[in-house]
Amino acid sequence: MSKVLVIGCGGVASVAIQKCCQVSEVFTDLCIASRTKSKCDRLAAELAGKTATRITAAQVDANDVQQVVDLIRSYGPDLVMNIALPYQDLTIMEACLTCGVHYLDTANYEPEDTNDPAWRAVYEARCKEAGFSAYFDYSWQWAYKKRFAEAGLTALLGCGFDPGVTQAYCAYAKKHEFDTIDTIDILDCNGGDHGYPFATNFNPEVNLREVSAPGSYWEDGHWIEVEPMSIHREYDFDQVGRKDMYLLHHEEIESLAKNLPEVRRIRFFMTFGQSYLTHMKCLENVGMLSTEPVEFEGHKIVPIQFLKALLPDPASLGPRTKGKTNIGCIFTGKKDGKDKTYYIYNVCDHQACYREVGSQAISYTTGVPAMCAALLLLQGTWRRPGVYTVEELDPDPFLEALDRYGLPKSESRAPALVD
Ligand code: NDP
Repeated sequence: MSKVLVIGCGGVASVAIQKCCQVSEVFTDLCIASRTKSKCDRLAAELAGKTATRITAAQVDANDVQQVVDLIRSYGPDLVMNIALPYQDLTIMEACLTCGVHYLDTANYEPEDTNDPAWRAVYEARCKEAGFSAYFDYSWQWAYKKRFAEAGLTALLGCGFDPGVTQAYCAYAKKHEFDTIDTIDILDCNGGDHGYPFATNFNPEVNLREVSAPGSYWEDGHWIEVEPMSIHREYDFDQVGRKDMYLLHHEEIESLAKNLPEVRRIRFFMTFGQSYLTHMKCLENVGMLSTEPVEFEGHKIVPIQFLKALLPDPASLGPRTKGKTNIGCIFTGKKDGKDKTYYIYNVCDHQACYREVGSQAISYTTGVPAMCAALLLLQGTWRRPGVYTVEELDPDPFLEALDRYGLPKSESRAPALVD
């Protein structure tokens, strides 16, 4: 019997909530709370009568710690699932500490306003010291480790697919497949086609910030930063076929480098089609990806937020998206004194996801792991005072839960590198 407060009611949250409702013996009570309450009411109404989970809805601005504290105090959850945006991670963590409640999210903290002088000072020092310039990094949330540990509370960070399942794959490879791991390449392949010339599969602002930033990877104990989209590979993926991939900075590289220090090189690649890249370059060239407010006819407008209003809502892509994702990790290393290459991955079908929960596979592959991680936390298997990323926890019960609730793993030699 557990009460859970879910903050956010977008594409990912809607999948996570529906999956929680499939496990109503554990998720007995859910409160869906978001900035726009009508979305929460709509989802609660859709689920009424289809699940034994008791669902309520609430309005909250999670940028305001006091509002989150008031909501937690009035609802009394065991766990808060933060499936809003990375901008709210710190305020929700603060509220959880104030109220003595466990915490879980799917993406690491980044500020909404990258011009905020207090944040910028820390950011610039980190860029110089750590050597990568992405807007997001774990230092802000790792700073909460002691406070969560002392309060006897668990905070699980980045419980989506990547970050999330990809780190469980790393922990699994280390536990079962290798004596030593030398390199990890995380491959996020989306073979889906939504038919639009340009749209993002999850929150456009967060997505475009991520992919327009310089790429970086970890090698021999330090970061190497490269121009955006300057490292290209082509792979031939099981059930998807040949896809172009580009190296990106991604948050799990940071935590994996810290928690698996013996690994010599860690990189992250994502698929992008030519149409996406051409549109992104053009939008960037005209300033539409900027986070700096501009004055327009007496209003302050943030270009990337205006762009978000023009682009298709990721939650609306479900019925249009056809094809499959193939996301996983290639490892090289040694087992029993011999060289070994190993690929562990999941293939997910956009249309099958849509039939089950009315969403495309990107929301599905994020929402299902969030539910599975919450399940393990509530059942005690993954409850450990402190702040953790997924590779720090036992991968076996998590991968079993993913198998059971819709994201089974496959294993093989690595997909073929075409060039
Ligand atoms: P959406 O934009 O679809 O949904 C975000 C939700 O958060 C909306 O319901 C929005 O409300 C709500 N929200 C935004 N600001 C606030 C606020 N101040 N207070 C309360 N609620 C707020 O995003 P997605 O569902 O696509 O993504 C959700 C999260 O998942 C993001 O953090 C994203 O980075 C992460 N993600 C992680 C992945 C992974 O593999 N780990 C992959 C994909 C996404 P409103 O309706 O009012 O806008």
